[in-house]
Amino acid sequence: MQNSTHDDKGQNGFSRRDFLLGAAASFAYFAGMERAIAASGNDTPVKIVIVGSGSAGISIANRLADALPNGQIVIIDKREPHYYWPGLTLVATGVWPKADVLPGSNESFLPKGKNISFMKTLVSAFEPEKKQLQTEDGQTVSYDYLVVATGIEYNYEAIDGMDIERIGQKGLTSVYHSPDKAEASWGAIRDFSEKGGNGIFTLPATPIRCAGAPLKMTFLTLDRLKQNGGFDKGQMNFYSATGGVFGLPWFNQFVLDRFAENKMDVKLKTPLKAVDIDAQKATFGSAEGESFTVEYDLLHVVPPMRAPKVVRESDLAWKEGGFAGWLAVDKNTLQHNSYPEVFGCGDVNGTPLGKTAATVKMSVPIVVSNLLSVINGKEPEASFNGYTSCPLITQIGSAMLIEFDYEKNLVPTYPFIDPQQESWFAWIMKEQLLKPAYLKMLEGKV
Ligand SMILES: Cc1cc2nc3c(=O)[nH]c(=O)nc-3n(C[C@H](O)[C@H](O)[C@H](O)COP(=O)(O)OP(=O)(O)OC[C@H]3O[C@@H](n4cnc5c(N)ncnc54)[C@H](O)[C@@H]3O)c2cc1C
Repeated sequence: MQNSTHDDKGQNGFSRRDFLLGAAASFAYFAGMERAIAASGNDTPVKIVIVGSGSAGISIANRLADALPNGQIVIIDKREPHYYWPGLTLVATGVWPKADVLPGSNESFLPKGKNISFMKTLVSAFEPEKKQLQTEDGQTVSYDYLVVATGIEYNYEAIDGMDIERIGQKGLTSVYHSPDKAEASWGAIRDFSEKGGNGIFTLPATPIRCAGAPLKMTFLTLDRLKQNGGFDKGQMNFYSATGGVFGLPWFNQFVLDRFAENKMDVKLKTPLKAVDIDAQKATFGSAEGESFTVEYDLLHVVPPMRAPKVVRESDLAWKEGGFAGWLAVDKNTLQHNSYPEVFGCGDVNGTPLGKTAATVKMSVPIVVSNLLSVINGKEPEASFNGYTSCPLITQIGSAMLIEFDYEKNLVPTYPFIDPQQESWFAWIMKEQLLKPAYLKMLEGKV
């Protein structure tokens, strides 16, 4: 069900055309920069291996194919369908059909007949000292330069009794896993929105991709409850493993106030420890170090997240500190701290903030530009500011376009949109404009 029937021109006079023109202008700037850097040195026939064909890997591959016509670019990934992850919250709440988040195969977004080859396998080990890696089907692949773009690993196993296969049954939901499980989650949320009952939404303590998604799920479920008659027949709850619900203090307070208006119960420092799916009971830790068990009619599980094992257990990972296990890159240049021929992009990076597709969009040109500099024997000069963005849906037809940097300063793209106000335009961004822009980003065109 597509809910939006608004036409192209927003209430504030801002149109899809304006949005795309803005995106095109930034593309022209970075494409010019990349061409200038590539042209400034010899276009030597270097071999660049990109691990991961999600949004970061594909977008980098397309840009490098243009900038280095004599380069050999190898992209490695086993997953064939491309997931448009940002649309999963809309699938899990019945706004979009599943087909809308499956835009095609990963390979179909790579240019044909160019200097790119695609290996359908997984990397099983990195050997950065030897500038090579191993694949799970027994191949050794050498490289001159490496881009790690393996995304994130969901650690559902950390929750006792959790069974991914049962998402959609007995009130068990989780938007994060995949398009299939997002669709299955909508089945459970639709039932709950009619019958009501005890609904529990969770948040783990680890870094997660799109920290707004657990909140979007909560707000959209509240909306569905009100539409379908379940709101007065139950209780909604949000249990966070951290001391809050979002990393920006003003927005954290906004959400807590909105939850209070909806008579929700919020518990902090209560990590989800275990679930008994048949009995529909969830067990949480408490701030006092004890645990308690509650019955639920709907449970939304946000799994703890970490870097994929192949990165976590390699010499490429931070060994200690807050980012232990994540890719050890400089937060501004996105170049590896120990291996200058290695760069990281996307969710796998061990940097503060920035696990969103919007981060990928803004950091891909930085990675490409700095990689080209290094290929040409220069220091990386482009600097990433940590741009993170999330159109935070507060109800169907309304959202807040929150954009911030490493310092948690607001960095709005459109000066006429107040990031601290809900707006129809931010909803239209999320529901209609972001996917076309995302697909252009994959092709390296914005
Ligand atoms: C529910 C949800 C909602 C979201 N909402 C938004 C939003 O509204 N706005 C926004 O900007 N962002 C949003 N995001 C976040 C955004 O989708 C991600 O930050 C972004 O897609 C990350 O891209 P990536 O390339 O780093 O990872 P991915 O797209 O996950 O790609 C990683 C790829 O690496 C591959 N890989 C993993 N291990 C290996 C290996 N060993 N060898 C080879 N390949 C490997 C995987 O198969 C995968 O294809 C959302 C995410 C989710 C899940």
